[in-house]
Amino acid sequence: MRPSLQPRSLMTDDPELARAWRAQIITLFPEAFPGVLGLSLTGTALKNGLWQMHTVGLREFGEGKHRNVDDTPAGGGAGMVLRADVMGRALEHARATMPPAAPILYLSPRGRPFDQAMARDLARRPGATLICGRFEGMDQRVIDHYGITEVSIGDYVLTGGELAAQVLLDATVRLLPGVLGNADSATEESFSDGLLEHPQYTRPADWQGLPIPPVLLSGNHGEIAKWRRAEAEALTRERRPDLWDAYQARDPE
Ligand code: SAM
Repeated sequence: MRPSLQPRSLMTDDPELARAWRAQIITLFPEAFPGVLGLSLTGTALKNGLWQMHTVGLREFGEGKHRNVDDTPAGGGAGMVLRADVMGRALEHARATMPPAAPILYLSPRGRPFDQAMARDLARRPGATLICGRFEGMDQRVIDHYGITEVSIGDYVLTGGELAAQVLLDATVRLLPGVLGNADSATEESFSDGLLEHPQYTRPADWQGLPIPPVLLSGNHGEIAKWRRAEAEALTRERRPDLWDAYQARDPE
């Protein structure tokens, strides 16, 4: 008998919760969630209902007595591939409880590189369905049939999509209204205006003979802002010529 598939965390009469940003995660390892997302600001926001998380266990949709989810690659080769029929059933279930404007994303090293702009875009939507791959990934037909966007968190290969999903969710959830304590934090950090962030300092004023740059202790907010902007520009120019070129193209001054 199939287990009850009604996602409990998405059933609510509370209008506040009904508006909350929804993450639906299809995974072979539901126990991996919320993981680090259950800590600190994202964890508090989850507890307070600023966002909701629901996992869909892929195994529940598996084939036969052993609930198989994978099979050998067509055409031969190493490893196993997540079956289209199994993933299709899981997706149909997941889609039923998600608003149409919530995209379906497949975490994949072949995907579009995830960045702050994408996190901002996702935070403006009602939520997202995330598919965590395993083995050699999933059958291409599922991606094509549902027009799924593939998203990569970097040019390296992880064992599975769960960590990648948590990276994407962390970056997105912290941009939701009310999640960060200080509303300025998200507007002044790296990538918010196309630059890497300036260096940060705090007490003690002198550590190992190394003082805090005097301008930061001057109380002159205009000079501090100028110093921070100059440092951010120098860092970006030195470390990320790609970002620097894009920044200059937007604002040649
Ligand atoms: N055979 C795949 C390839 O060469 O592109 C790699 C599969 S990987 C071992 C298993 C799963 O981990 C993928 O389906 C994906 O969900 C996840 N994954 C691995 N690296 C990732 C990355 N850089 N970004 C996002 N997801 C990743």
